[in-house]
Amino acid sequence: DYHEEDIDDSNFVTRPPVVTIMGHVDHGKTSLLDKIRSAKVAKGEAGGITQHISAYTVDQNGQKITFVDTPGHAAFSEMRSRGTEITDVIIIVVAGDDGVKPQTEEVISHAKASGCPIIVAVNKMDKESANMDMVKAQMAEREMTPVDWGGDVEFIGVSAHTGMGIDDLLENILLQSEVLELKADPSAKAKGAVVESLLEKGRGPVATIIVQNGTLKVGDNIVCDTTYGRVKAITNDQGKPVKQLGLSETGNVLGLNEVPVSGAVMVAQDSDKEAREIATTRAEHARAKELSKSTK
Ligand code: GDP
Repeated sequence: DYHEEDIDDSNFVTRPPVVTIMGHVDHGKTSLLDKIRSAKVAKGEAGGITQHISAYTVDQNGQKITFVDTPGHAAFSEMRSRGTEITDVIIIVVAGDDGVKPQTEEVISHAKASGCPIIVAVNKMDKESANMDMVKAQMAEREMTPVDWGGDVEFIGVSAHTGMGIDDLLENILLQSEVLELKADPSAKAKGAVVESLLEKGRGPVATIIVQNGTLKVGDNIVCDTTYGRVKAITNDQGKPVKQLGLSETGNVLGLNEVPVSGAVMVAQDSDKEAREIATTRAEHARAKELSKSTK
């Protein structure tokens, strides 16, 4: 079946890059994500800023960047296995006092395989024992050669404690993403991915969704893998109720019948009937597959 709308790119606009921060445990992923958010979200809008959240958008001199946390890499590998990689740019964080560790190596190979531009953030540069050249040498040995050593990987010294280097990091993300020419169509039917999900007492299933194409609106009928529902309410990354989420924006969505798995693809449908049918059929297939597995 041929749909003209599928090839109409006249509505395409540049969309903000989506960035993930990965690295060895304790090298400062969480601290960096929290520092970027608190440094870049306007005061007064900082409600709940002390609380760590899994996805948010910041404004760097009028240009937006969305950061997504990848808790335990679970959602991340789920998304990869479904071919719905959401990340445009990967930041590998390496503690400047600790250097490359086993999980850093894992992250390097994942990042290389993804084909995304990679930036190395050398964190904890506020510490006296931090050593940028040591990290560069260790990374260069793993084919992550710094630009100033003739390679093509940017290394940026940062401190999640003092905030040093964070502007550099954000500017660099924007430079890298410019080259990618990220485009999407805000008028298309909404499509995105579930970053995180949970069952909240009194509110039901809550899905943190990132919009990759189109605009997700309250009232939309959506399918997330085997779950479906009409979007009842959306709160943005500052916890405020909003009517819609635009390109590369994230927020919490209420209205699904069940809790979707992290990494699930979200697609808006024309009607609630369609949404229900697609999700129910998928759920049945999934059950049949489970059953055949258990009888083998
Ligand atoms: P994660 O496991 O990668 O998310 O690491 P965390 O963000 O939890 O940080 C691990 C530890 O390193 C915590 O005790 C942080 O306070 C500390 N830390 C993180 N970033 C910095 C930094 O820039 N400077 C210093 N001195 N300590 C940091």
